[in-house]
Amino acid sequence: MCAAYKVPFLDLTGVHAELEEELVTVFRRALRTSGFVGGPEVEQFENEFARFCDVDHCVGVSSGTDALRFALVAAGVEPGEVVVTVPNTFIATAEAISQAGALPRFVDIEERTYNMDVERLADYLGTRCIPEGGNGRPVDKETGKVVKAIVPVHLYGQTAEMDPILELAERHNLTVIEDACQAHGAEYFSKKENRWRRAGSMGRAAAFSFYPGKNLGACGEGGAVTTNDPELAQKIRMLRDHGQAKKYYHEMEGYNGRLDAIQAGFLRIKLKHLSEWNGKRRQAAGRYRELLGTDSHEVIQPYEPDWTRAVYHLFVVRVAQREEMMQHLALAGVGTSIHYPIPLHLQNAYQHLGYRPGDFPVAEKVASEILSLPMFPGLTRDQQNIVIAQLLTSGMEAANRERYEAA
Ligand SMILES: *Cc1c(COP(=O)(O)O)cnc(C)c1O
Repeated sequence: MCAAYKVPFLDLTGVHAELEEELVTVFRRALRTSGFVGGPEVEQFENEFARFCDVDHCVGVSSGTDALRFALVAAGVEPGEVVVTVPNTFIATAEAISQAGALPRFVDIEERTYNMDVERLADYLGTRCIPEGGNGRPVDKETGKVVKAIVPVHLYGQTAEMDPILELAERHNLTVIEDACQAHGAEYFSKKENRWRRAGSMGRAAAFSFYPGKNLGACGEGGAVTTNDPELAQKIRMLRDHGQAKKYYHEMEGYNGRLDAIQAGFLRIKLKHLSEWNGKRRQAAGRYRELLGTDSHEVIQPYEPDWTRAVYHLFVVRVAQREEMMQHLALAGVGTSIHYPIPLHLQNAYQHLGYRPGDFPVAEKVASEILSLPMFPGLTRDQQNIVIAQLLTSGMEAANRERYEAA
């Protein structure tokens, strides 16, 4: 089916063809040394990715989900505590929270950036919590549980509004763990520090995913935690390896959550190209904007405030007749996707959290309109012309049909 697409939603084959010889060399070296888990490739990748993210420490783990879960546990989130995040994200964000034993609570997103609405966060901490419950930390009124941490998600490759989030966290004695799984290399301009800061360097720790389709993807699964806190990094090294600091001496119960050497080797090769690939994604985003123009009211384009530099993991537009639009594009050979069709609070998996439709109106509204267009570094101008031409004709058809039906 993919082969039928003139413009696939995501095409990783170009990049892998270009790097094939180098990638195969990594595999051959691993075979010949039988070094599959841990070892120098992992350590070197960790050092290089730490430098890329502008942090002191990086710990490679087996996935982004594990990265987030280990970061929460290592930062001291205890079973029964609340961790606040957003409802429009990949389910892994909430899974990591509940699998760390904590309770996910949501705050709505901001309609233009699709990231955590800092006013809703302030409102949650100020009015839906008893402000100074345990240890100066807020206590969630509805559940009676202590709020311990906030997980802002840098969705679609654009950072959340971190200054106010960090300020609220400081005021309420909360830990911030960034979900940077879609934001390798994204930047945020901190007014407070008067400098650009990299995604993954702003919270107490951050989680990255190297799932193949991410901006930096392995040829399999992988993830990493970044932090400037040496003790937290050490704890994560133990958590990923059955809680051991020394072989068979277990300080705590941990997990099997290591990054394997072959993936680390692949990631080292790809990391050298990441800035260039992110640049190409930004360029493609610029071309989409140009092609859409400023007067196509039917298509809401991504909003990139001047305090953020997005790396366009996804290029997400909003359209009224989303399902028809998707179908029209598919018939024209254009692959699209939806990130994400159902906000987490309305997923079957989270019915027990007790949320109802209407609880997060912005996330709910946006979920019915968002459409992710093809986006990857090798996307060509010709392919983008096709996407936008089809998008605009479909919009016109829909508008005409509405007019016709109304008459
Ligand atoms: C991909 C992703 C994750 C999970 O990463 P995995 O490596 O697939 O476990 C978590 N959060 C967000 C926002 C993601 O996009």
